[in-house]
This record gives sequence, C-alpha cells and structure tokens, in this order.
Amino acid sequence: MTVHDGMYIGGRWRPAAGPDTIEVVNPADEQVIGSVPAGTAEDVDAAVRAARAAFPGWAATPPAERAALLGALRDELAARRDEIATTVTAELGATLAFAQAVHADLPIAVTGSYARLAAEHSFEEKIGNSTVLHEPVGVVAAITPWNYPLHQITAKIVPALAAGCTVVLKPAEDTPLVARLFAEAVDAAGLPAGVFNLVTGLGPVAGQALAEHPEVDLVSFTGSTAVGRRIGAIAGGAVKRVALELGGKSANVILPDGDLARAVTTGLANVFRNSGQSCNAWTRMLVDADRYDEAVALAAQAAAAYVPGDPHDPDVRLGPVVNAAQRDRVRGYIERGLAEGARLVAGGPETPDGLERGYYVRPTVFADVTEDMAIAQEEIFGPVVAIMKYTDEDDAVRIANGTVYGLAGAVWSADEQAAVAFARRLHAGQVDINGGRFNLLAPFGGYKQSGVGRELGVHGMTEYLQTKSLQL
Ligand code: NAD
Repeated sequence: MTVHDGMYIGGRWRPAAGPDTIEVVNPADEQVIGSVPAGTAEDVDAAVRAARAAFPGWAATPPAERAALLGALRDELAARRDEIATTVTAELGATLAFAQAVHADLPIAVTGSYARLAAEHSFEEKIGNSTVLHEPVGVVAAITPWNYPLHQITAKIVPALAAGCTVVLKPAEDTPLVARLFAEAVDAAGLPAGVFNLVTGLGPVAGQALAEHPEVDLVSFTGSTAVGRRIGAIAGGAVKRVALELGGKSANVILPDGDLARAVTTGLANVFRNSGQSCNAWTRMLVDADRYDEAVALAAQAAAAYVPGDPHDPDVRLGPVVNAAQRDRVRGYIERGLAEGARLVAGGPETPDGLERGYYVRPTVFADVTEDMAIAQEEIFGPVVAIMKYTDEDDAVRIANGTVYGLAGAVWSADEQAAVAFARRLHAGQVDINGGRFNLLAPFGGYKQSGVGRELGVHGMTEYLQTKSLQL
C-alpha cells in the first residue's frame, strides 16, 4: 500500500491543507492499495489561484509551442504505458488487456491528436471586414469519473491546454492513482508551473468547491446525470460556461437485413467491456419479431464466453465492477428486471461461483423487455443487456428514441444507405453503422439528458475557446 500525501499545485507536489485521506481499494480482492489526500476548499482555492496566475502566460504562448509541450506530454504518457495499465487494473478492475489497449493507449493517442491539432488549428479567421479571434476561455475546472479514468482526464485537460486554458483537475475518488500518474507526466514534460493542477478529494467537498469557485471560467464535468444537473445549475447561476458528459441508455438496432450473429456478438462485447461501465454502451438490443428468438439464443450463447474473474488472468474477459455500491446497484437492477417480468436468459443477481471476494457481477441478458420497465429506461452501468422486440422501422425508431438519454447507438443493415437513413432519425450524439470503428477525432457527446457540449477532435478543443470580433 502506498500513501500519497501531496497535491500537484503550481508546478510542485505540496502537502494537503487538511488531514483527511481517501483509501483506494482494489475491486478484484477488496484490498486497500493506497491512499491520497482528501482535498478541501482551501486546496481547491490554492489550485485555482495557481491556474489563474499561469493563465496569461500560457494563453500568450504561441500555439506551436503549446503543441510541442503536448507532444512531450504524449511521450511521457507513452513511457508510462505499462504503469498506467496496471494502475487502472488495480484501482478500477478492468482486465489488463483492456487496460493496455484502451485505458492506456487511448489517452496517449488523444494527447497526440491534440499535439497535432494545436499546431494546425487557425485561431483567427476573416469574416468580411472582421477579424475573428478564437481566444482561450480562461481557468477550467475538470471533474472526472472513474470508468475511463485517464481517458476522461485527457479528453478534458489536453484540449483545454491546447486552446490556451489552464486547468484544475478533481478526479474520481475511486481512481485517483492514475490521475497522479498523469500529473507526474505533466511535470516531466516540462509544462509551465500552474498550467495544470491536481486536487484529489470527495465530490461534494473538493468537487463542489471547484465548481463554485468564482475564479473558474468553465466547468467540464463527466459523471452521473444527478451531479451534472447540480453542476449545470451552479454554472448557470454564475454565468460560467459548462460542458456535461452524462449517462446513456443506447440502442443497438438490428434491422431485418442486418448481420444478426455479428450484431449480437459485437453488441454484447460492447456492453460487457469494462465490466459494463461505459456511458455509451448499447444496453438495449432491438430486434424484429421474425428473428427475435434467434437473437436471444445467440446472445445467451455469446454471454457464456464472459466468465467473471481475476482481471490479471489473460483468459478472463470480465473483471469486477468498481466498488461494492456499484455491485449492489447492478444486482439490484437485475432483481428489478426479474420482478418486472423480464425473462432471464443469462446471468442473474447471485454472486458468481467462487468469487465471494471482490465486487463481481454475472454478465446478464434479459429477453422480453418492454419499454415501461426500469431496466429499459434507466442506466444500470453494469454488464446487463435488455433485448427488446420491434414491429417495424418506425417502431424501432420510437423505441430507440424513447428514453431521456441520447448519447450513442448502433445500426446494422445489409444496405449501408438504409442504415445511415435510420441513424439520421436517432436522437443521439454518436451512431456506429455496421460496427464502424471508434474515431478519436470525431465529436463525442450527448443529445437530450446525456449532456451538453462535445469532446475529442477539433470540436472538443473549440469548447475551450471564445470569440472576439475586430471590425476593421
Ligand atoms: P458521479 O457523478 O458520482 O461522479 C463524477 C465526478 O463528480 C467524481 O469526480 C465525483 O467526485 C464528482 N462529484 C460528485 N458529487 C459532486 C458534487 N456535488 N459537486 C461536484 N463534483 C461532484 O459519477 P460516477 O459514479 O463517478 O460515474 C458514473 C456515471 O457517470 C454514470 O452515470 C455514467 O453514465 C456517467 N458517465 C458519463 C460519461 C459520458 O461521457 N457521457 C462518461 C463516464 C461516465
């Protein structure tokens, strides 16, 4: 167990203002693996002041120089790739292979993408007799969740830095160790003091103090809709910019001519990755009546390959969920699905065999799920799939759009143009056609209650810019 006692503020590690700490627990075996300081409003204030002091210098730094420093940051992260992966496996429970390929490699690639974008982007444009300047917004507060802990950090911090903003990060309580690794990489990359600051702490204490701080110009939050609503209200009250990446209940729509076997197995893999803890997971599978029974049988068969177990074991495809509360919440939803009359075809609420220690959940598939059920409407954030039946395309659109969320989705059809036409009718920020690959330059974010604003690529960077028009 490693005891960390510092916050990264103003370019150095310094002791926290208060004595409280947060224990970090390995969800695979429930062992305490480390502790970090629980920051207070005093730590937050010191961090925001450091970011404010660093802002004029960083904003005036030529974009090419900022880009070069972000390139150095990318290299420092790449040099820590294995440490990042083992840290995320230890504090989140993601399988080691997934931690390497996604939790480590994706943030490294995203950081690299902004090193390029910052160098290429034009921060000025001509419109008639006006010169429009795209200037950094100022001091950014970044509040991040635990499910993709380093990706969520880089998806906010790096575009903000590329735009010329300075930042204070408050990472999730469950996954602060990889946030510390990020701060070490920033330090080693030689970014100027105060440009990036880290305060670990509890959401309602350090997070709230950060969102409320009068010297913060923009709050970027990823997490639950409940907390996002509060942050939006705080930012609105102070007329601050706000970006919110919230929950989802995305639909995987298999049209009657879609490749059923591929759509079902890819759909299950999409939900079960990261132990079901992905905001953009396709947790509702929509199938036409003619192929419904076949889809249910395929899903039950595919689920059998996901035997929960030790995330370090290369044969294991499903690790634990992040903590005991999350495990209880997911099992509670499985019990609710049964009580509501859904048909269990794989998994269930019981502890997986031989896994009494650790926060494990059985990968679960429900059939005969109807729209009125909680498991069809609410975000479960665990390895649970609901298979639903539609009568025709209009019915499929209606069901797919029939939740408060609108983050992501998938459409499968032998006719790509038909799939695209269907995707145009979906109220969602991202739709993958026939298993289209993730694109880290494409804007990511939600319609409806899934959020406000976009991350990644150039769209993610312009969130951190404001315009000034000069009339000549
Ligand atoms: P959460 O909302 O409890 O916590 C997220 C962050 O907010 C943490 O850092 C937490 O400390 C902080 N926080 C909590 N209360 C706060 C407050 N009162 N003021 C300020 N900050 C506060 O969510 P979680 O449990 O960490 O994450 C799971 C949820 O996040 C799921 O609903 C999931 O869908 C959503 N999520 C969405 C996306 C997306 O990109 N749209 C990505 C990941 C997670």
